[in-house]
Amino acid sequence: MPGEILGRLHAGNSATRNTLELRIKIIGGGLAGCEAALQLACRGFEIDLYEMRKGAGKTPAHKTGNLAELVCSNSFKGTQLTSAHGLLKNELKTLGSFLLQAAEKARVPAGESLSVDRELFSKEVERLIASSGKITLHCEECVSLASKEPTLVAAGPLCSAALTEKIKELTGGEFLRFYDAIAPVIDSDSIDYSQAFAMNRHEKGETADFINCPLDKETYLEFVKRLQEADSVEEKPFEKKELFEGCLPIEEMARRGTDTLRFGPMRPVGLGKHYAIIQLRAENAQKTLYNMVGFQTRLKWNTQKEIFRLVPALKNAEFARLGSMHRNTFIESPKLLDNSLRLTTSHQPLTTPLYFAGQITGAEGYTEAIATGWYAAWNMANSLQNKTDLLPHGTCIRALVEAITAPNEDFQPMNFNFGLLPRPEGLRKGEKKDFFIKQNQKNLIIFTQCCPKN
Ligand SMILES: Cc1cc2nc3c(=O)[nH]c(=O)nc-3n(C[C@H](O)[C@H](O)[C@H](O)COP(=O)(O)OP(=O)(O)OC[C@H]3O[C@@H](n4cnc5c(N)ncnc54)[C@H](O)[C@@H]3O)c2cc1C
Repeated sequence: MPGEILGRLHAGNSATRNTLELRIKIIGGGLAGCEAALQLACRGFEIDLYEMRKGAGKTPAHKTGNLAELVCSNSFKGTQLTSAHGLLKNELKTLGSFLLQAAEKARVPAGESLSVDRELFSKEVERLIASSGKITLHCEECVSLASKEPTLVAAGPLCSAALTEKIKELTGGEFLRFYDAIAPVIDSDSIDYSQAFAMNRHEKGETADFINCPLDKETYLEFVKRLQEADSVEEKPFEKKELFEGCLPIEEMARRGTDTLRFGPMRPVGLGKHYAIIQLRAENAQKTLYNMVGFQTRLKWNTQKEIFRLVPALKNAEFARLGSMHRNTFIESPKLLDNSLRLTTSHQPLTTPLYFAGQITGAEGYTEAIATGWYAAWNMANSLQNKTDLLPHGTCIRALVEAITAPNEDFQPMNFNFGLLPRPEGLRKGEKKDFFIKQNQKNLIIFTQCCPKN
């Protein structure tokens, strides 16, 4: 099936091949930029791809000048359709992702996860770029967004200083962030509501929006002790401690005194007579995901799960995302981008369409970077050819993009997880994954059947 659909996609696109003289500029030869360049080349466009690490440019984390370098782990996570990343990868494969093909070629044995030899992976991506015949690689830093060509910014979480400055000027500055401070996000079905209650502090507001998870004195003291003793993820040399002072991780707050959390993010004031409380706030409109308010943390992932499950209402909590804090340049996509990843809000007049993809949009993770690269390329090509097809609702990529572009006053990067997918009311826990898989396949078939017209 995937091969067949891919064939049809490319057959549909070949109609436009060689008919376009239009050039597109892509800034960043990472995961998102390379996927987008290959997709757009396949649609017949001429691409100027800029990668500064091929020249004199460096980032604090990349070690080579290779295209699509994996900065840290060599894993694209699970492949099973019953896992969120497995479903996302299956979708990308169906849609003809070139970088996933490269990953399959560079695969190393790692059980059910797709892990790669990072050198071989980059070599394969470089081979695809070189053999496309339509991509001109510029081994230099791109420092301008003023361009005659439609442009895609895929400069990643470690975007160069000069380009960051240009993005800041364009977006007005207040919509650009340099660090993320991510609090854990919990699947709403896994909360024990018999141990929690819905209420806003001082009962303000018309609807009770917060889920409150109380802790008695004994549980609180144990919770704080475990936080005080817990191991954190080591900071990278370029992530200086003092930068986090304005937004302390909870383990650091716990270390400053037993009562610090009880007078900070766990204060019960205005919520009835409780010793301490953790508040959960809906992360999405469907209320399938809840965010632990004020719980940004650098604790190791397994430690987070162990400690947070001490809270009675969270004893069976399933985490759609765990907390993290690291250096990460990203724009406030909800205020700046539409759901095709095109910049719509700008402090300066735009001379040409400008799109964003990859981690800089707040889509967190390797596979998510590839997915948004594919998606931005698809939408750029369609818009330049006066077509409007978006991926349908219910697809993983569309759900991810909706999560990062929907209104959100407290926007932080998000990875793909099942909590983002739409589902009918009343679906039981055991039925969810089956539903997602069927819905996803149905949507993709409908979508790809339309492709030859495109
Ligand atoms: C330190 C660190 C570790 C991470 N580890 C993981 C992990 O283990 N697993 C995971 O799933 N995710 C991880 N991430 C998150 C994210 O998935 C990766 O950063 C991913 O590489 C993002 O893909 P991207 O294409 O958006 O950016 P990148 O892959 O970083 O690509 C952006 C490219 O743009 C280039 N560039 C920047 N500015 C310019 C310019 N002005 N001109 C020309 N080129 C430019 C850069 O050199 C870079 O090659 C990590 C992030 C960081 C910062």
